[in-house]
Amino acid sequence: MRTTDILIVGAGTAGLTAAIYGCRSAMKCTVLEREMYGGQIINTTDIENYPGMPGVDGAQFATVLHQQAEDLGTEVLFEDLISLEKGDDHWFTAVTSGGEIRAKAVIAATGARHRKLGCEGEDKFLARGVSYCATCDGAFYRGKTTAVVGGGNSALEEALYLAGICEKVHLIHRRDTFRAHKKTVERVLAAPNIEVHYFATTARIEGDKKVNAIVLNVPEGEKRIELDGIFVAIGLAPENQQFAHLCQLDETGYFVAGEDCRTTCEGLFAAGDTRQKPLRQLVTAAADGAVAASLAAAYIGENF
Ligand code: NAP
Repeated sequence: MRTTDILIVGAGTAGLTAAIYGCRSAMKCTVLEREMYGGQIINTTDIENYPGMPGVDGAQFATVLHQQAEDLGTEVLFEDLISLEKGDDHWFTAVTSGGEIRAKAVIAATGARHRKLGCEGEDKFLARGVSYCATCDGAFYRGKTTAVVGGGNSALEEALYLAGICEKVHLIHRRDTFRAHKKTVERVLAAPNIEVHYFATTARIEGDKKVNAIVLNVPEGEKRIELDGIFVAIGLAPENQQFAHLCQLDETGYFVAGEDCRTTCEGLFAAGDTRQKPLRQLVTAAADGAVAASLAAAYIGENF
């Protein structure tokens, strides 16, 4: 049976930062990752908003972070978490695609995935005109034409953010009323360079090397809009069901956990995008990783 002090689920920024802080607290740290290390940031070309590192490439950032965690002694296992249980002796037992691992504390750093439109061209033009984060990638479209798809707070806030950078922003929404806060809606409707397309869904995204148009289905038929970038903001979805029997998740699946990253299950912490929080960014994921690992180390010191 494999054992570790802190089992970290997810090798994104939160998980790898947790590993760095855990190792530096003299904890044995094991990270489980089912795909590629790095998480969402590997889809960003230039990170312009991480303090002290302007312009760093997302994949490069992830590679250095992974190396830093391994150099400090982290074991990164490319295994999928299948189930997690907590025993009366405080130990957690994880069943993974590679066997079983016992851990004294667990940090869920499972992230959240942007919902996809599922239309033709969306995957093909990822990072070549299709983005899921205006704060991350908006600056590449200075003076250009973009579209935002969605009708919630994220979409409307992204449209307003882009309106300050781009010459023109098309807001594409499948209904004629918005989920976003009233004041945000009013600001969008008052913005001179935002054009709203109601009852519009995305038929396909077109381009050559990069995106050059979006084709909408509207009540009158198809509408083609020439543009440079498309921001999809139709909500995020966490994938936390394997933890639901141990601790409280909110109605949308995020861990109920505050700034201390403690979940409602002792010894189980949630770090990064996967927990309830007002700002999901690289810097807040890193901050969560540091907090969760430090408190996990303290928890282990008190209970083992
Ligand atoms: P959201 O509130 O769930 O809104 C998603 C939007 O995308 C909805 O307008 C929805 O349309 C649309 N949509 C969903 N699936 C679609 C599809 N397949 N095709 C086209 N449109 C689709 O998501 P969110 O904006 O990411 O916000 C998530 C949560 O964070 C919300 O609770 C939000 O209030 C909160 N948030 C708050 C703030 C803030 O307070 N400043 C900022 C950002 C986010 P329908 O309306 O037709 O369903």
